[in-house]
Order: sequence, then C-alpha cells, then structure tokens
Amino acid sequence: IERTFSIVKPDAIKRQLFGQIEATIESKGLKIIAGKFLQLSQEQAEGFYAEHEGREFYAPLVEYMTSGPVFVQILEGENAITAYRELMGTTNPETAAEGTIRKLFAVSMRENSVHGSDSQESATREIEYFFQPSEIC
Ligand code: ATP
Ligand code: MG
Repeated sequence: IERTFSIVKPDAIKRQLFGQIEATIESKGLKIIAGKFLQLSQEQAEGFYAEHEGREFYAPLVEYMTSGPVFVQILEGENAITAYRELMGTTNPETAAEGTIRKLFAVSMRENSVHGSDSQESATREIEYFFQPSEIC
C-alpha cells in the first residue's frame, strides 16, 4: 500500500469541480486519508515548486497557484503514485487520454486542475510539506 500527495488546483476549485474530481479519485479505489483547503502564500508555492525555479513557467505558476484556494490531500492505495498519475493524465490537457481528470477538466498546460507526486521521494517530501502526522487518518 502506497501514499501519494495531490492538489486540486485553483482553476478547478473556482469552477466548482472539486466534488467531481474527488468522486473520480474515489471511483478508482484511491482512499482520501487526509485533506484541507488552503490559500497558499507566495513562499509556500515557491517552496513547493522549487525544483522548477529558473524555468520560464515558474513565476506564472507561482502566481496561478496563489490565485485562489487549493485543496491539498493524501491518497492511499495499491501503487497510488502511478495510479493517480495515470488518472490525472499528461501535464498538457490536449494530449491527455480520454477519461483522465486533465482531459475532462483542465483549461491549459498551466491551469491543469490537479497535481500528483511523481515519485516516492516527492510524495514523502510533499506530504511532510503540508501535513502533520496528527492530520492523517
Ligand atoms: P504536477 O507537478 O503539478 O503534478 P506535472 O508533474 O505533470 O504536474 P511538472 O513538469 O512537474 O508537471 O510541472 C508542474 C506544473 O507546472 C504543471 O502541472 C503545470 O501547472 C505547470 N507547467 C509545467 N510546464 C509548463 C509549461 N510549459 N507552461 C505552463 N505551465 C507549465
Ligand atoms: Mg510534477
């Protein structure tokens, strides 16, 4: 059993897609074991995406991620990291497979509705970045 970290991003919260996204996640058998709404500060968003510092999309990404509330959550299941990456679809919604969250809901490469950890190391780091052990069920 594995854990991954997920964010429902501002574009999806603004368009009231939160419930549909959570239903899609649960329908795939992933269990939501922690979650909360947050308004990210500039520092929180910069730290979270530090690996992308220096890329041309970094500053607009931080601006977008702080443009409204997000929902941060921990998902648990068999191969949760890969299973959830597959459920999200590719970064660019135009190339995402049918039925994926990004194909269904994303607006653009930047405003792509969801985040999911890309490795076990990222999952551990990202979970610890946002959650105390007492917040995990
Ligand atoms: P995430 O890390 O959010 O799950 P990802 O792993 O598919 O997405 P990354 O390459 O880690 O994609 O990029 C992080 C985020 O930065 C993307 O989800 C997207 O919001 C934004 N982003 C990435 N590349 C671009 C780009 N070329 N133009 C605009 N935004 C981008
Ligand atoms: Mg990534």
